[in-house]
Amino acid sequence: MSGLQRELDRLTIEELVRYVVTDEELPAALALVQRFGDQHLAAPVLRSYYEVVPEGREEMVVDLRLVARQAGIALIALATTGHRYLYLSSAGEALFLGNYDRGVEDEAVLELFGYRNREEFLAQVGPFSELPPLPVEDDAPELVTCAACGVLSGELHIFGCPVELCPWCEGQLSRCNCRFDQLGVDRVESEEQLEHFAEMLEAKGRIAFEKEQNPSYPVAGEDVGPAAADAAERPDRDDDD
Ligand SMILES: [Zn+2]
Ligand SMILES: [Zn+2]
Repeated sequence: MSGLQRELDRLTIEELVRYVVTDEELPAALALVQRFGDQHLAAPVLRSYYEVVPEGREEMVVDLRLVARQAGIALIALATTGHRYLYLSSAGEALFLGNYDRGVEDEAVLELFGYRNREEFLAQVGPFSELPPLPVEDDAPELVTCAACGVLSGELHIFGCPVELCPWCEGQLSRCNCRFDQLGVDRVESEEQLEHFAEMLEAKGRIAFEKEQNPSYPVAGEDVGPAAADAAERPDRDDDD
């Protein structure tokens, strides 16, 4: 194992990524490594992931979020195209903890971050999409603007922006079906319904722009506009109830 570890240590993170992801995913996977690769909390987590892909699922990393931070140790959630995992990161080392959805089971880790047990951890952290982004490490954080609506990191998107994430389903808010589910209708016909949905959205808590949301490829054919103009009618009907 130590021989293998020495071999792995010699590889750059970019080389490790090439072993794991498909040619198709490579540009996006490398773009994420570039974005997080020099952050001292994120870099060891990315390297750890690409060195030993959990459960042999060879998927690219799509996002990293901060779950908690205590005494120089960060609890970090890593999302791939299909799964979410938890890592500890400290002093350039990362430790794989397990699946994000299963929460933290290790008692020492729970105690360090002030959770009484796994159930309390799960209840407090909530869905991945509501986790804060990893903090920017340098003194002068670069200002990143939303590729579609132009707001800055930490600001709310202009209503209808295709990059905005839905707080209910974590999907693309301008495209998902949550407006119909929340309003209990199959069609959004009036300005009033749209306003009502906007209120529900505010109450739920809109997801502010963070640079990680910017697509690594152009959002073809999607313009910023009123959400209603994008999808006024539910594209498919649920017939399971
Ligand atoms: Zn936007
Ligand atoms: Zn949704």
